[in-house]
Amino acid sequence: MIDLRSDTVTRPSAGMLAAMTSAPLGDDVYGEDPTINRLEETAAGLLGHEAGLFTVTGSLANILGVRALVPPGAEILCEASAHIARAELGAHAAVSGVTTRTWSAPAGQIDLEQIRALIAPSLGSYFVATAAVSVENTHNFGGGAIQHAYDALADELDARGVPLHLDGARLWNASVASGRSMASYASRAAAASVCLSKGLGAPVGSVLVGSTELIREARVWRKRLGAGWRQAGVLAAAGLYALEHNVERLAEDHANARLIAEVLADAAPGSVKPDQVETNIVVADLAATGKSVPEVVEAARASGVLVGGVGPTQLRVVTHLDASTDDCRTAAQTLARLLH
Ligand SMILES: *Cc1c(COP(=O)(O)O)cnc(C)c1O
Repeated sequence: MIDLRSDTVTRPSAGMLAAMTSAPLGDDVYGEDPTINRLEETAAGLLGHEAGLFTVTGSLANILGVRALVPPGAEILCEASAHIARAELGAHAAVSGVTTRTWSAPAGQIDLEQIRALIAPSLGSYFVATAAVSVENTHNFGGGAIQHAYDALADELDARGVPLHLDGARLWNASVASGRSMASYASRAAAASVCLSKGLGAPVGSVLVGSTELIREARVWRKRLGAGWRQAGVLAAAGLYALEHNVERLAEDHANARLIAEVLADAAPGSVKPDQVETNIVVADLAATGKSVPEVVEAARASGVLVGGVGPTQLRVVTHLDASTDDCRTAAQTLARLLH
């Protein structure tokens, strides 16, 4: 099977497993796991923030980051297909009492005009207050797109005193593809999360970064939600290994995604624009092919290729370090045959 459903499906390599078994460990609830402490400090430094917090998932990193910026009953703005709005099972409302309003834009992009219009003015006592704006970079359901108005939005929010939340699950991909440093993106946000278990290939884990004060509060809430952990340095070691070995190679995943997009664009003209595939995600629109997403997903599975659907007509293909260029070419040809 060639599994291109997500970059979460990667398995730890032999080198990563060796790093995990030799990591020094301690009890993280006492702050005594040296490997977790090193990962948190390394990530904070890399992202241009004072402090970091290792969490079991990206969803938890987002829950903790958003709740640190948005009090119960206030709102966060985000794009309509953002992970925090669509793919975290309503956690921000269910767990933190946070409400959401959204703008909608192609490829999940920042739309400054819409955001300006959404930021709640102080019109009266019953209007919900906009406490933060969240941006996903790269944008998952937007086809791995890099946010092109990121700095313009950060400038605008600075001027208004509204904090920015960055869902940077795949900020590594944005950084490698654009040549911009991680810190140049993340330091513009009051809280930022990054995933170690997507393209970086670690089995588990994300890191939330922010000010010392914000991370202190997030640490309390992580424990309160039952997600404090003990000798999890065994997992942090995988993250540290990934930071050292698996960042620069993301460029290969990006080239493989472009290759897949080109094959699909040939087979089903208009389904995807290859030059808009900037990182490791290809979202192809099957509307013009007359094929349904479940039909193509099932037929691909029967031919040894796993892909997923992210909308009624949208097929998503994600490249990663466990899928070689040959695997990606084979998968693309299989899909091309099914779409033709
Ligand atoms: C994967 C992902 C997350 C976190 O997902 P978990 O499965 O909770 O680790 C957050 N944001 C985006 C954009 C993602 O793609």
